[in-house]
Amino acid sequence: MSTLVLTFDNLGEASELERGTWLAGEPLGRHPSVTVAFPRLLEELDRHGLRATFFVEAINCELYPDVLRELVARGHELGAHGWRHEQWSRLSPGQERGVLARATTAFETLELDVRGFRPPGGELTPRTTALLVELGLSWCSPAGTASERRDGIAYVPFEWELVDAYHLMERFRSLRAQRGADPAPLSPAQLAKRLSATLSALPDAHGHRTLVLHPFLMLDPAWWEGVMDLLATLGELARTGRAAVLPGGEFASTLAPT
Ligand SMILES: [Zn+2]
Repeated sequence: MSTLVLTFDNLGEASELERGTWLAGEPLGRHPSVTVAFPRLLEELDRHGLRATFFVEAINCELYPDVLRELVARGHELGAHGWRHEQWSRLSPGQERGVLARATTAFETLELDVRGFRPPGGELTPRTTALLVELGLSWCSPAGTASERRDGIAYVPFEWELVDAYHLMERFRSLRAQRGADPAPLSPAQLAKRLSATLSALPDAHGHRTLVLHPFLMLDPAWWEGVMDLLATLGELARTGRAAVLPGGEFASTLAPT
């Protein structure tokens, strides 16, 4: 059966702290993407019987430990997404090791089982795979197309085409231009239609596609409408047996060494 892997990236203020856009002195631990967007997202996932991987920055073990525990209690998977969304391909070897070790330790301290990693920015370094193995992780999800298992790690890549932020945000204008797409952002309605069509045209029987959504973007009521439609589409594909809709780690565990 074709597989659609459902993933969510980023939690709370982590990436704003990293980028330096979080106002100094602003209290931490009450970001609207967590207090407003998250509860209704979790409800909607339950309603459609969908489970997903949430790639979160490990600083959230300190900021939102109860939210992380709730995700797992509700049947979802947690994956690591840096400490506070460090642009992965720019890290020095020492920084990369330090950030990943700090992240895995933070999850262990809360006794949260984390086996997957998605590099913020989508690119691994030449050292990442060995580090993941060393730190006890078993799969990763960089930008790319081929799912495979090699060097002790399963790869469940994502395509930019299936990332909400890539289409909606000004910040990705140059990446869109670089990839030969229209540099202008799509409207939420345009994106919902496009993603729904892409997901409904299913991959080959043994193939997969990975959907990447960001809870902070769901604070826009127009895009939240689009997300609700998309989740309904995924729920329907799963219910009618046309596709398996899975968290990434579950799909990763089916990949044989190549
Ligand atoms: Zn991210």
